[in-house]
Amino acid sequence: MIIFKKANTLFQFLQQHKQSGENIGFVPTMGALHKGHLSLIKASKLENNITVCSIFINPAQFNNKEDFEKYPVTLEDDIEKLMGAECDILFLPGVEEIYSDHYVVNRYQLGKIESILEGEYRPKHFQGVCQVMDRLLQFVSPDELYLGQKDYQQCMVIKKLVEMIGKQEVINIKICETVREADGLAMSSRNLRLNNEQRNRAAHLFKTLIFIKEHFQHKDFNELKQTAKIKLQGMGIKVDYVEIADANTLDAAPTNSSKKLIALIAASIDNIRLIDNMALN
Ligand code: AMP
Repeated sequence: MIIFKKANTLFQFLQQHKQSGENIGFVPTMGALHKGHLSLIKASKLENNITVCSIFINPAQFNNKEDFEKYPVTLEDDIEKLMGAECDILFLPGVEEIYSDHYVVNRYQLGKIESILEGEYRPKHFQGVCQVMDRLLQFVSPDELYLGQKDYQQCMVIKKLVEMIGKQEVINIKICETVREADGLAMSSRNLRLNNEQRNRAAHLFKTLIFIKEHFQHKDFNELKQTAKIKLQGMGIKVDYVEIADANTLDAAPTNSSKKLIALIAASIDNIRLIDNMALN
């Protein structure tokens, strides 16, 4: 595996390979890698000549200082895992490489998607995501971009970004299934911050999604969301939202909606914020 720290060296290297007809799969991450990330690497390896993973903890997308400061960093481990997965390239930029002095902060017109659900609880988060993704996509110019369904709203935002920068014909976005622990907890870098007791409580996010899936066909959605919320709160979990939404727009869905539906939860366990979602039909 080759490690690049400089964007222009990475860019030149990848352009040479593209010119000789090779295609590039890209897996952007913030590190503290787990099997969810590695499933994306695996998917990219199967479909591309070169797989690039980036690790960059993007300060622009954190609206909470504590969350940023406590974000897990396990770089040596990450490198070992990437080598084990036969990832070809790791891009490991410093903050100044992404946000140089000349960097002009763009304002992305994302519309409603940036202010609902995650956007409501994490103001400016998706602007930060777009800032870093716009830059990374320029440096890597991937043919295929691999994202996790776990961050469902983020996938929608990045899709929109790719359209806004006119790359929808060039970059093929692949959304990969959420990889879970044996008890259903969605793998997440933030899980590293949970102690045993918190870790056990965290599994209730998944259990609650299953509960919603089992009942949404014959229950009033507002009642179901409220029951789900109370169940989580009963476990000492602070709920930001439990939503049953149209999977294409993320608008709250009315009971008995015939649309493609998704249930989404965001909740904190002693200030450690976790998200998860599940397709319902
Ligand atoms: P992150 O490092 O959390 O920014 O995630 C990097 C990429 O990995 C994003 O596209 C995530 O959606 C994806 N990802 C994170 N957790 C999982 C998971 N449990 N299963 C599949 N993909 C994941």
